[in-house]
Amino acid sequence: MKVLFASSEIYPYSKSGGLGDVAHSLPLALKKRCRMVSITPLYRFIDRKKFNLHSLGTTYTLQIAEKTYTYELFQAKGSDTLFVYNDILCETEALYGYDNDALRFGLFSYMIAAVAERINADIVHLNDWHTALAALLLKPAAIKTVFSIHNLAYQGIFNKKTLRKLAIDKRYFTMEGLEFYGKVNFLKAGIAYSNIITTVSPTYAKEILTDQFGCGLDGFLKKHEARLKGILNGIDTLFFNPEKDRTIGVNFDAVHLEKKAENKRQYYRTLGIEENDKPLFIFIGRLVEQKGISVMMEMLKNLSKELLEFVILGEGEKETEKKLLKLSKKYQNIHYIQGYDEALSHQLYASADFLLMPSLFEPCGLNQMIAARYGTVPIVHSTGGLKDSVFEQIEKCIQGIVFDDFSKEGCLGAVMRALVLYRNKKTYQSMVKFDMECDVSFKRSAKAYMKIYRELL
Ligand code: ADP
Repeated sequence: MKVLFASSEIYPYSKSGGLGDVAHSLPLALKKRCRMVSITPLYRFIDRKKFNLHSLGTTYTLQIAEKTYTYELFQAKGSDTLFVYNDILCETEALYGYDNDALRFGLFSYMIAAVAERINADIVHLNDWHTALAALLLKPAAIKTVFSIHNLAYQGIFNKKTLRKLAIDKRYFTMEGLEFYGKVNFLKAGIAYSNIITTVSPTYAKEILTDQFGCGLDGFLKKHEARLKGILNGIDTLFFNPEKDRTIGVNFDAVHLEKKAENKRQYYRTLGIEENDKPLFIFIGRLVEQKGISVMMEMLKNLSKELLEFVILGEGEKETEKKLLKLSKKYQNIHYIQGYDEALSHQLYASADFLLMPSLFEPCGLNQMIAARYGTVPIVHSTGGLKDSVFEQIEKCIQGIVFDDFSKEGCLGAVMRALVLYRNKKTYQSMVKFDMECDVSFKRSAKAYMKIYRELL
């Protein structure tokens, strides 16, 4: 069985969040069970030399709406990842957010469909709106498609003119097809025309059928509910491995927690904080409403009075960044690090005592799994994949602190419980050890995806 796995980002070549991580680790886990080939754009910022990427030598052409587009395929020797290069798709400084995103990812979808046929793929696994049109384009090819929704909040909604530019027949511009309040919705193509729809946790699969979380597509998704399945993500536990991770100060495992404490000591030194036994809380993520930023911001004043240190690493909404910079100047124990820094994020996971995830909604969330792996206890709002992966019941993986009430009070209450737990050293340490031994790998999910693939053929 040959599966073409298509994603607009794959770590370590490109990543804006969880999608990049999953597009790296899921095919890796599936590789043991079937032939996996990944496909992703070769953006200009990807270092071809560093990754040893070579052109496969042919320039292919696509005729779309009387225009000719060319693209080339690149690969590193012995690797199963194909990179497509086309100047419109790839000559951007960042991944998304350009005026021509519709054309860029429409072209990418055409390229996915063409490559799928060329390599005789049995199944094409599409991810998020950037690849969704390929489900429609592949219909005549009779290649089976799986479409995974990583975050319903991002749908790829564009002007109606997009249809003409991408030579998509008007007959698909209906409520049952791509039409969305007079515009074109790429994500709808994935939902309407793929054989199976998956999303990244069982709870999120239920939530997106409701008005509250459906982002305007709950009714549409309900029509396709029979083909929708929720499968919880995992992480690459070889990459996120405190025993071997070279980006952290001191490697450690569940039996040598004193070494984890050394990471915290080192990190406190870099922050210029005198050695103390205050717990370190961290938040790592995109600064957007989804992540519960407003609740967290409201709470910072209260936290400034508590015996704890709080480090926030992230970038996003400019107003939030500004406010956080101001607050971290004002309060000594609140530290904001603006930006995206993979290595620092590992240091933080390794050093911290608690990870805060007060997400308003969370399709799956990976931070809580990474945190568990590094012995950092997650504090989460009970939603989506967080509800499926963090529990207060003893002996259930991952153990953490869960709050239901999405408000400043709810979140603050959870932090206060964490402070009490931290003082109860024995209970806290056994929780840390338990979490570090939880299986947060992709093993179980890979089995579930494999089952879907098999049933399709
Ligand atoms: P989402 O995809 O919604 O952003 P996930 O929890 O699925 O959230 O995945 C987030 C991933 O991105 C994790 O690997 C997390 O560590 C990483 N990440 C997020 N923000 C930053 C940042 N500012 N610096 C480093 N890594 C980050």
